[in-house]
Amino acid sequence: MHDEWPDRRFRDLFLQSGIPQAVIALDGTIAAVNEAACSLFDRRADELVGEPLLSRLPHDGLERSERLLEDLLEGRVRRAQFEHRLLHRDGTSIDALVSAAAIQGPNNELVELSISLQDITALKALERKRLREALEDPLTQLPNRALLMDRIGQAVERELAGNEPYSLLFVNIDRLAAINDSFGHAAGDEVLRAVADTLCGLVRPGDTVARYAGDEFAVLICHPEDPHHAVAVAERAAAALNTTLLGAGWPELHYTASVGLAHGPADTAEALVSAASAAATRAKEFGRGRWHVLGDSARHQMAEQRALGAELTAAVAANGLSVHYQPIVDLRSGNVTAFEALVRWPHPRRGELAPHSFLPLAEALDLQIRIDEWVLREACATATTWPQGDLGPISVAVNVSPAHLTTPGFAAKVCETLRESGLDAGQLALEITETAVVADLALAADVLTTLSEIGVHVSIDDFGTGYSSMLQLRQLPFDKLKIDREFVRALPHSVDDLSICASVVSLASRLGVHAIAEGIEQETQVKALDALGCHYGQGFLWSGAVPASETHQMISATPWLRPTKAGDPRTAAKRNSPSSDPVVLQRARDLHESGASLNTIAASLNRAGSKTHGGLRWHAASVARLLFPQGGS
Ligand code: C2E
Ligand code: CA
Ligand code: CA
Repeated sequence: MHDEWPDRRFRDLFLQSGIPQAVIALDGTIAAVNEAACSLFDRRADELVGEPLLSRLPHDGLERSERLLEDLLEGRVRRAQFEHRLLHRDGTSIDALVSAAAIQGPNNELVELSISLQDITALKALERKRLREALEDPLTQLPNRALLMDRIGQAVERELAGNEPYSLLFVNIDRLAAINDSFGHAAGDEVLRAVADTLCGLVRPGDTVARYAGDEFAVLICHPEDPHHAVAVAERAAAALNTTLLGAGWPELHYTASVGLAHGPADTAEALVSAASAAATRAKEFGRGRWHVLGDSARHQMAEQRALGAELTAAVAANGLSVHYQPIVDLRSGNVTAFEALVRWPHPRRGELAPHSFLPLAEALDLQIRIDEWVLREACATATTWPQGDLGPISVAVNVSPAHLTTPGFAAKVCETLRESGLDAGQLALEITETAVVADLALAADVLTTLSEIGVHVSIDDFGTGYSSMLQLRQLPFDKLKIDREFVRALPHSVDDLSICASVVSLASRLGVHAIAEGIEQETQVKALDALGCHYGQGFLWSGAVPASETHQMISATPWLRPTKAGDPRTAAKRNSPSSDPVVLQRARDLHESGASLNTIAASLNRAGSKTHGGLRWHAASVARLLFPQGGS
């Protein structure tokens, strides 16, 4: 027993302390221990004295504790704390937190170490359990998604370092939801466990079978020596998972799985997973219980989409999109009454991209709402700069994506944008598609009613392409129906389309709203639509969407009596028309429709004091040019 105590009080303090303590000699062996330490190990003091402090039980911190003890014993540090694993008499291990300090002699020389021990066995067990839970799927005890992603990440890095090929198998159980519904969730769980067992039976040590999500499993296959191994596993997995579950309670439970395979190398773990998952989706499309390996061109396409996605995210963050404006024209007078705001992406390498080539991507990346909000702000700000049109203020129509309309706070955000821009609510129209409102009609009606109460207009976009019934749409406060360009394209020759347009226009008039025809490219379409009573039109006949800077010119160039070539609004020519006065045109059209001859119309206009654009009296020829600007009948 250690007997060089400087003071009896210190000795008692040491021996009777409730904290396990020991004195360590400079050779690393135990020189003295107290009662508490003895009971911690369930060993007597005379058994412990003379033993080395550090057992060599393996644990994560072994190397560190050995290094620190050496530093202490050689006087390099004066105190240190480390976790260490110690041996109990019964052979179990004790995790201890060791706090050690140097004991110095009269000349400050190191003579011994004093250490105290804290039993942290329970704490460490809890920590390990937490860690396991964080990385393990509780139902199948397989690695979960987090652990899988980590392992794939490591495989990606190893491949980069030394060409170790790997593949990922993605397994999607077909119709698990239906199994849950018809046999109960216990049966569904049983299927999941059976799939886990099957997959584990197909792989080699070193491969990772993981539960990726609900009905999805993934297998990371590392195959340095055998390139065909992954394909063989995919084949066998699809076959083995086309099977019947034998169990009590569900006599004949047959299930299948669709298996996708993607080979590395991949840029990231996420890229490999999405390739394998896309392959599984393809497999499912071919019929259940199959497997499919993603080809190079599909992989290439996915990589391109990913790159484009990253560029889009950056562009949105840097306000790198732009808004163009397409005029909406009053068919009778030729006046621009509104512009539709349409988003564009001026891509540094690919040129200006149209919405269809990036909005689906934006939606997948959760960027759609941010884009919509930005377009709304831009459009409102631009609209405040427009001069008054001949028929009143020019309004701006902004598209609202389905998901956006029903986000909480949508109406408030629109109000806020209006307030910030100073735009009159009556100058804003929101274009909503049928599908957007039908998804949650009650909520959509609520939101739109709030907005229409402050004067915002609502148009139903792409009307006729959805499957909503008029009964449903009537609950919404809208004031325009936009006839989809699909129905306008073949006018006036297609009898079917003509009758569809006719019924939309008459429906609109019965509801007391106006119709806008989209996609008008020819004058014959205008005539047909005008004859049906359609009020407004939009299309390349007048102009495609132009930058904000060109909208002013367009407003002052109307009314448009001579439609321009597609996409070229700049030749829109007031100069070429016999009159720029919409009232005159309207009067001439009304008289023409009532059957008056050109001479009669000319006489009537002259009586009213009207002059042609060149300041001349009207005659039959100038009336003809007024009514039929391109020389038609
Ligand atoms: P949409 O709302 O139906 O917009 C009209 C589309 O028809 C525009 O295509 C326009 O350029 C095109 N168009 C106009 N006149 C003609 C014509 O005479 N002939 C033909 N063939 N097409 C014509 P764009 O700009 O490519 O927009 C496509 C769609 O993208 C829009 O369809 C709209 O659904 C969506 N979109 C555009 N901008 C936004 C936006 O800011 N937010 C949201 N949520 N969607 C937008
Ligand atoms: Ca639209
Ligand atoms: Ca449309």
